Amino acid sequence: LLTAVGLELTFGRNPALRGANFTIEPGEMVAVLGPSGSGKSTLLHCLAGILVPTAGSVVFDGQEVSAMNDVRRSELRRTSFGFVFQFGQLIPELTALENVAMPLRLSGKRRRVAERQALEWLDRLGVGSVADQRPGEISGGQGQRTAIARALVAGPRVVFADEPTGALDSVQGDEVMTLLASVARETDAAVVLVTHEPRVAAYSDREVIVRDGRTDDQRANGERNL
Ligand code: ATP
Ligand code: MG
Repeated sequence: LLTAVGLELTFGRNPALRGANFTIEPGEMVAVLGPSGSGKSTLLHCLAGILVPTAGSVVFDGQEVSAMNDVRRSELRRTSFGFVFQFGQLIPELTALENVAMPLRLSGKRRRVAERQALEWLDRLGVGSVADQRPGEISGGQGQRTAIARALVAGPRVVFADEPTGALDSVQGDEVMTLLASVARETDAAVVLVTHEPRVAAYSDREVIVRDGRTDDQRANGERNL
């Protein structure tokens, strides 16, 4: 579904990626692990079309993401990808419901339709009761569940999650991961999960380690015996 080969990216004189490979199939959850500063977030941003690599290619569903112009890349992100980050990604002025409805509103759905669908997702993630509250008025765990509802509401093919449990305690983290894994499985979305916590990585089907901007994704490297 999504494959990256030979990704390189240098910030100034600082090489963040120096030949990273990655591949993920529909319904699969792959954990990206590695030390701080190894290039995990940079790899995720390249895969998601947020950053353009200096060398190498990213192919999603047969389309070369790394060769698209900015307009096409943001269109692809909006229609096919969902995002969950560590914190701060909900819009503070909007209620939980309005936050989750936002991706649907951006793709042209009427407010009533978007909000009905958003409420279904909040309910599904167990936070329907905070629909009318703003991010500052709900707990970290409720905020992450709301963020997951927003990432999934528009039916993404790939969900990118960068330390989604980083701001949570381990009980809340487990709840959020259980929900993310089960919803992704039901919808056949692929999940790229960046984490440094082994207990969070344990929810994935497979692990890829990043070290000094290089990956050990043996499947992408073609080293796996089929
Ligand atoms: P962490 O576990 O701490 O989140 P990470 O593995 O996600 O680390 P990255 O954020 O991908 O690491 O950073 C990889 C390298 O690239 C680091 O050396 C970092 O300083 C550098 N880097 C990342 N983003 C930028 C940027 N926008 N400008 C300059 N350098 C950057
Ligand atoms: Mg990071």
